[in-house]
Amino acid sequence: MRLSDLSNGEKGVICKVLGRGAFRKRITEMGFVKGQVVTVVKNAPLKSPIEYAIMGYNVSLRRSEAGMVEVLTEEEAAQLDLAGATTATIDEVLMRTAQAAGSVINVAFVGNPNTGKTSLFNQLAGAHEHVGNYSGVTVELKKAQVKLDGYTINLVDLPGTYSLTAYSPEEVYVRRYIAEEMPDVIVNVVDATNLERNLYLTTQLIDMDVKVVMALNMYDELEAHGDRLDHAALGRMLDIPMAPTVGARGRGMRELLLAIVHSYEDTGLPRPTRGAAAPPRRPAPLAATAGAPHHHIHIYYGAAVEEAIAALQLLLRSPQNSALPDRYSTRFLAIKLLEKDAVAADIVQAECANAADILATAKRRIADVEAEFKEDSETVIADAKYGFVAGALRETLRHGREDRHSRTRKIDNLVTSRALGFPIFLLLMWGMFYATFALGRYPTEWISRGVELLSRGLAAALPPSLPADLLVSGVINGAGSVLAFLPNILLLFFFISYFEDSGYMARAVFITDKLMHAIGLHGKSFIPLIMGFGCNVPAIMATRTIENRTQRRLTMLLIPFMSCSARLPVYVLLIGAFFPRHAGTVLFAVYLAGIAIAILSGLLFSKFLFKDKGQPFVMELPPYRRPSFGTLARHTWHKGGQYLRKNGLTILVASVAIWGLSTFPLQPHGERAPYEQSYLGQLGHAVQPALAPLGFDGKMSISLLTGVAAKETVVSTLGVLYRAEVEDDGSTARLEQRLRAERHPSGPHRGQPVFTPPTALACIAFILLYLPCVAAVVAIRRESGSRLIAAFTVAYTTVVAWLAAFAVQRVAAALM
Ligand code: GDP
Ligand code: MG
Repeated sequence: MRLSDLSNGEKGVICKVLGRGAFRKRITEMGFVKGQVVTVVKNAPLKSPIEYAIMGYNVSLRRSEAGMVEVLTEEEAAQLDLAGATTATIDEVLMRTAQAAGSVINVAFVGNPNTGKTSLFNQLAGAHEHVGNYSGVTVELKKAQVKLDGYTINLVDLPGTYSLTAYSPEEVYVRRYIAEEMPDVIVNVVDATNLERNLYLTTQLIDMDVKVVMALNMYDELEAHGDRLDHAALGRMLDIPMAPTVGARGRGMRELLLAIVHSYEDTGLPRPTRGAAAPPRRPAPLAATAGAPHHHIHIYYGAAVEEAIAALQLLLRSPQNSALPDRYSTRFLAIKLLEKDAVAADIVQAECANAADILATAKRRIADVEAEFKEDSETVIADAKYGFVAGALRETLRHGREDRHSRTRKIDNLVTSRALGFPIFLLLMWGMFYATFALGRYPTEWISRGVELLSRGLAAALPPSLPADLLVSGVINGAGSVLAFLPNILLLFFFISYFEDSGYMARAVFITDKLMHAIGLHGKSFIPLIMGFGCNVPAIMATRTIENRTQRRLTMLLIPFMSCSARLPVYVLLIGAFFPRHAGTVLFAVYLAGIAIAILSGLLFSKFLFKDKGQPFVMELPPYRRPSFGTLARHTWHKGGQYLRKNGLTILVASVAIWGLSTFPLQPHGERAPYEQSYLGQLGHAVQPALAPLGFDGKMSISLLTGVAAKETVVSTLGVLYRAEVEDDGSTARLEQRLRAERHPSGPHRGQPVFTPPTALACIAFILLYLPCVAAVVAIRRESGSRLIAAFTVAYTTVVAWLAAFAVQRVAAALM
């Protein structure tokens, strides 16, 4: 409970003082420290200030200030079962419980992309990690809890940002998170091999006046290059505790946690050695630890800017704006105003009585600064920050001889070169798919065989009955098709993780970016689109790497047009039956047609639906790294597990549903309905009129319906309906014959063949384009967080498929 919530006469013990360093310092000087008992003397509803008795004095606090003090009330304490509570005085009990409550530390990870935040997070979280839901912006918040020596440390992995300007949604999000959630400690994760750039973000955290602990990650690489960093000295200079870490291998985790605890308890910097660091003191003498001095460094921005900051701070601190300085550092706000930061201006507008005065002053001061430096004020401030960083590093960092950057540059000259970039890229992608399917064939075969043996065995062992049929044809087959995809998916994810972790993926993004821009996307969409050729479901999941929500959703909408491998058997069947002499060409054209429709749709959507073009972004080219096998295995397994968890059930349910629809209603003697009379058959006949203009008969319509559950079921359904089972060796020759021989039994076309080459083409077009399988739709729903988008996908793809099939059928009929 917060102190401001207590009413007259109520008593509480202080557990924690939230907020920035300067605020905590002021309030602790007044006696509001952990473990102290406070009694409310006078709290008039909605009125500020509130009067309290503490340490034998009466003190008044503003309501906003009291709102930042966490207390434990007598009632709350009474609910806790404490040993010895009967003999101890209530104050003692309260004090002890407060101590326990005060040992919960809320920690947020902040840092540039690719610095290893998630790796560190996963190392610390171990098995406890769980993935949170989407928050307002485009990010997936990961939360976890770690226990250490009686402390409970809550971790949150925030999205990566280069800066805390109001430039991208991620930056605004991270900034708001810090101001509003007020984490007790921020862990600034930096790439120790790239401090010049990483410390820029740190300067902004310093401006914000929040408690920071720095994880000097990739410390292994720093050492490998022979660089020497005196991090103890750097830590003292920045007044930030430092912990060298290796996120990929879990080195330095305990030291990092200890640094967090020490920072939280204000017990000063832990000895920044790897190896044996001092154990944290128990939250010992309460009043003493909480009152520890807080000294905070400032970055010096030069006389003109500093004067402007001081002038703005004076206005921001005006007594009219009582609540503002508790939540935001006035220095931070002043600097942001001078950087022409829109979010800061909004905060001032919303919370300051003298907003007009402040904004006018900011404008005048900006003009002064710009006149003096002949530069944008943002640039002046950024230059000062870089100067600060360069200065701090010059004294503490010695570069070794090996220059990894030049090696990276050499590789980059090759793989991003104009002539060879694309060929190399295509070769690697081709290699990836080839290896995925070549290596995946064996385990997939074993699984299919195992499933078949199991279902045959069961069918033989069980007396023929409806439940047995459900088990064999519904459940086991469904589970089998889930598992059959797993080897391919794991392999694909393994290769993708390898490309990501080694740094090559960033180059792929780089070289495809221009291409993707043409359809309103950027390079990051390329990989999910390519993955769509394998299976749409993991492809849709892979859109998570796209930070911009609009682009992520746009990419998801286009993925279904990438012809997934489950559609291939259907093409093979139809092409084999009707175009045996041009099979390769037709197949290639099918894939190209899918890509063409995706491009056209992308143009259409980005023109009319998604106007937001997204910010231009830095396409950073991180240095190449040798991925560690452990990390690769974890990434792969994590993604594969997600596929199983999230889609396994859907596919299983769909398979059981199809079984039900094709079995019922039962015949008079209780046997299953013939296919055409089952509910599925009836449904097929019901939709048939809509498909008749495309030349599809009832059997085709039924088969297409079953394809909604999973595209590969179309072939087996056709086999059942045309009474030509697919043979044991997978040959569909007899089914091909049956398709060619099929005549319309009645109606205006009676006696004419059902399937003509134009109809077969229309059919292929329809299968290529019509709605993706249930699992893909569910994945879109989940990843976009929008039911509307999922519904739109279904409607859009169906309409496009119909129109395309219609056009194909007419054009082909006219030409042939
Ligand atoms: P994030 O974008 O900040 O979340 O970074 P990730 O956790 O995704 O890590 C980016 C890459 O750096 C991954 O390939 C990691 O395996 C790798 N990585 C993370 N920490 C370390 C480290 O300490 N040393 C080395 N050599 N690689 C690391
Ligand atoms: Mg991450």
